[in-house]
Amino acid sequence: MNMMTELETDARFVDQFGRSKRKLRISVTDRCNFKCVYCMPEHPEWMKKHDLLSFEELYHFCAFMVHRGIEAIRITGGEPLMRQGVVHFVAQLQNLKPLGLKRISMTSNGHYLKQYAQALKQAGLDDLNISLDSLDADQFKQLTQKDLSPVLDGIRAAQQAGLPIKINSVLMNGINDNQILPLARWSVEQNIQLRFIEFMPLDGERKWSTAHVVSEQQILNHLGTEFTLTQRTNDSVQSASEPARQYFIDGHPLGIISTITNSFCGSCDRLRLTAQGEFYNCLFAPQGLQLKTEIKALAASIPLIELSLHHTLSNYIWNKEQGFHAIEQRLKNQSMDKSSRKISMHMLGG
Ligand code: SAM
Ligand code: SF4
Repeated sequence: MNMMTELETDARFVDQFGRSKRKLRISVTDRCNFKCVYCMPEHPEWMKKHDLLSFEELYHFCAFMVHRGIEAIRITGGEPLMRQGVVHFVAQLQNLKPLGLKRISMTSNGHYLKQYAQALKQAGLDDLNISLDSLDADQFKQLTQKDLSPVLDGIRAAQQAGLPIKINSVLMNGINDNQILPLARWSVEQNIQLRFIEFMPLDGERKWSTAHVVSEQQILNHLGTEFTLTQRTNDSVQSASEPARQYFIDGHPLGIISTITNSFCGSCDRLRLTAQGEFYNCLFAPQGLQLKTEIKALAASIPLIELSLHHTLSNYIWNKEQGFHAIEQRLKNQSMDKSSRKISMHMLGG
């Protein structure tokens, strides 16, 4: 029998649509060595290093959240491997496993993985998502301003280290939509699971438009020209809160995250924290909640802080909106300008 007490059960965070929160994404830095066109602004204003929460402070926050039902923590960025001490942070988070944490994951651009894969495995990282949007070296450079080969080396190093990996590929119309079949073939050859992601309006330059989105249906149409395509249903991988719809191509698993044309918001169990302590109840929330002072107080064991932080977070999380389309509609109804939103993917971490 589960040993969770009544009080602890009540402590779980849930929103007004009954969605319990089980996953937390921590962006440990907004800095990145890549400049992906769909993510990074042309002239990023980096967060000041002294404004970032320390790993000790982040750890205390993670412990607080695990006590309130968080079962999976994903470390992201910016590029998480650019923040010194991140491997040690992964190792420290292992202490939360006896308290209910089940998975510690990371999302990385892969560039530094050759150097860090083994250490991450030793630190107990459970799985890793690596971004790879093109197998064509010139196109990759145009998309990211960096070379492809260190990423392919990084993927190899992660496999050799025994880290379970998935590849994330964001597709943009007219830019890298010609990569659907090459990436799919490569994933089958390499026996790696690939997930195509629809381009979301979270690019730093605010240039997103629906015309740039390669929809789930378009992706399926392309895949169908070469592979036998079946939808994967009724298994543990296609859990209600898994954002990617699951398919098989010639029997090999492939996911599609279609936030724009077929959103997964109805079962969203995620919460997000930026590197300087801004908390988001949704990827598309126009505004976050500044928690830096509270998180520092938590780490300093200031009396009653747990109670007040719990109260603040419960209210904010309860008010989480229905999802991407509901937020878009509300902003439209209120004639609010989306471009005034200051946060983009390189700060939120995906
Ligand atoms: N730097 C790491 C990386 O690229 O994997 C981690 C941070 S990155 C912001 C996390 C994920 O967000 C990546 O898989 C990236 O492809 C995705 N992403 C970034 N901007 C996006 C956008 N506008 N639409 C959809 N996905 C995006
Ligand atoms: Fe950097 Fe990741 Fe954004 Fe690309 S998607 S610019 S690798 S943070």
